[in-house]
Amino acid sequence: MSNLLGAAEVRALADQLNLKPTKKLGQNFVVDANTCLKIVKLATIEKSDIALEIGPGLGSLTLALLEEASQVIAIEIDSRLADQLSITAADRGFDQNKLKVINDDAISVRDLPFKPTVLVANLPYNVSVPVLLNILEHFPTITRGVIMVQSEVADRLVAVANNKDYGSPTVKANWWANLKIVGHVSRSVFWPIPNVDSSLVRFDRHLPAAGEAERAATFAVIDHAFAKRRKMLRSALSQLFRSNTESALIQAGIDPTSRGEVLTVEQFLKIGKQLLNDKSTK
Ligand code: SAM
Repeated sequence: MSNLLGAAEVRALADQLNLKPTKKLGQNFVVDANTCLKIVKLATIEKSDIALEIGPGLGSLTLALLEEASQVIAIEIDSRLADQLSITAADRGFDQNKLKVINDDAISVRDLPFKPTVLVANLPYNVSVPVLLNILEHFPTITRGVIMVQSEVADRLVAVANNKDYGSPTVKANWWANLKIVGHVSRSVFWPIPNVDSSLVRFDRHLPAAGEAERAATFAVIDHAFAKRRKMLRSALSQLFRSNTESALIQAGIDPTSRGEVLTVEQFLKIGKQLLNDKSTK
């Protein structure tokens, strides 16, 4: 554990880079090695795993991952941090060959040099949901992961239908995986200290309920249903269907007067299938 980063090392690295952490990039760095070890443990990493980390920052979690995984791919948007990461790993005695740093935006990344098997990340809070959904969609070899997110986002990801936290992030994330909250993290383990609470969410990918065309149609339905959350589905989805929305919902077995917040992923899929029919018959 001694070669992992603690508070003094994180501050020294930031000083060396003349780094002023920005809110815009969600730069709150973990200064407690035990927290990083806990996150890695919760991801049940095996020696054969190729770990993907989003937003490695100064490397607190990256170094803990390098101890366990066969490879670590780290995607960092801030070029100063991306450039420093391999140097930090080598300086602290880690095998640089196991680390591949990519200076890019994780919202839009589509290709990686290796196929990752597990995602472990302290996600930048303002983009945590789009980043997670992008990774789940485009890297199907990732079977599980542990992410640290703002507690409010964690509550949304694991919410059940008919709950105020249930929404588009819940349904879309659950399309890909089962998710559960596996821990809470004190604000005091970060520098700078954030003004929100953080939680750890573990996900385990399940088999997709349908193919890509059905998924895309279902996600369009989800977007429309939650964009007009208080509206009944027959009205919220009226822009989407070319034929009569009410009869399409009835054919899908869904009450047209219900709202998106009461529907399960499976029910959204039924509407998505109707939408595909609607498009192919016109
Ligand atoms: N993993 C480090 C840790 O735990 O100390 C840093 C976590 S910090 C909450 C989030 C990191 O994500 C920052 O290093 C930030 O520069 C980076 N970041 C922000 N937006 C990003 C994006 N769209 N793609 C990739 N990295 C991003």
